[in-house]
Amino acid sequence: MRVPLVSGEWVRYANLDNAASAPALRQVADAVAELLPYYGSVHRGAGFASLVSTEAYTRAREVVRGFVGARDDDLVLFTRNTTDALNLLASALPPGTTVLTFTGEHHANLLPWRRGDVRHLAMPATPTDALDALETELRALGGRGALVSVTGASNVTGEVWPVQEIARIAHRHGARVALDAAQLAAHRPIDIAACDVDYVAFSGHKVYAPYGAGVLAGRADWLDAARPHLAGGGAVRNVTAADVEWTTGPARHEGGTPAALGAFAVAAAAGALRGTGWERIRAHELDLLERLLTGLDAIGGVRTYELWERGHDRVGVVSFNVDGLDPALLAAALGAEHGIGVRDGAFCAHPLMDHFAARDGGSRHAVRASIGVGTCADDIDRLLDAVERIARDGPRWSYLERGGYVLP
Ligand code: PMP
Repeated sequence: MRVPLVSGEWVRYANLDNAASAPALRQVADAVAELLPYYGSVHRGAGFASLVSTEAYTRAREVVRGFVGARDDDLVLFTRNTTDALNLLASALPPGTTVLTFTGEHHANLLPWRRGDVRHLAMPATPTDALDALETELRALGGRGALVSVTGASNVTGEVWPVQEIARIAHRHGARVALDAAQLAAHRPIDIAACDVDYVAFSGHKVYAPYGAGVLAGRADWLDAARPHLAGGGAVRNVTAADVEWTTGPARHEGGTPAALGAFAVAAAAGALRGTGWERIRAHELDLLERLLTGLDAIGGVRTYELWERGHDRVGVVSFNVDGLDPALLAAALGAEHGIGVRDGAFCAHPLMDHFAARDGGSRHAVRASIGVGTCADDIDRLLDAVERIARDGPRWSYLERGGYVLP
């Protein structure tokens, strides 16, 4: 895609904002286009389009089941996104369940739990500290019902959390584990059974599917006993004038007509990612990540954000700041003057950014560059060149607000 610059010139768009929403893969767009003519009411009609849509929706669920490595008796629910999935799980907690999270989680994995009993653990200085803190907290709970909810990879630093070890500790204390895989699902296999987590949540729009669907997969018992997420058609076995008998399984929480195209898209993306191969994806992204980090380190005044030591496993997400430069201004200049898409702000992780500000004395806001399967070395080089120029000379234009600009 070519985009206009503030100078009037047109350039190829360098999308380094994959962690926010990743562009649809061609296979995904093709799969959705193929189904579009048959798009009909799912689970509700006897006509041909309805039958095809229902069959495709059912198949999409099975593809996603394979993608997340769900156990045979796990439920796989289509939701709107990760936020919706974690809110659903939060409303399904049995009474008396204590939720444990680290404070640096994305707000989607912090706020839903605050409606009940939640304990936020301080950000650990090392992965081992994370495990020790959990062990201590779970021991103090003395076997009372608990859920540990943890991110697979940070949306600010890209650092991969030790999920398997966390699950081992949690299970030893009789607690369950939910994995916020929003930032992991596009980069690494998320295997529920292999990681031994109880629930996993992710968003289609971060795994190269267009908007419309997210996923919550995991143990059926809490979900089947929970109040239906959306009360309405499809979520019931029978309704009388005075009463209702809710159904179980995915339909219990998917009341109303589902966003079937979103589900088809997630399934197509899952198939495309698996077809490409995780080792290939990982090697490509790590190569570009190395290029990005090395390049940023070489620019004077650039500081990157990491919770743990460099070298810890991470996906291709790097947040950084240039000394003396407002990150919103830097991001606006990268977009308008260089055709490079990044994100800036506090990344819906305010407590984590506050932690960094307190620890390193840096800003609560930063710029984030994130790598995807479509990123190429030229995207990284353009970003490095642009950051270096802006750091040296400042933006060439004045910016009124993010995305808007005026002549100097
Ligand atoms: N968790 C993490 C780690 C994320 O990065 C995001 C999205 N930035 C979310 C949860 C929420 O995802 P969504 O906005 O698709 O619900």
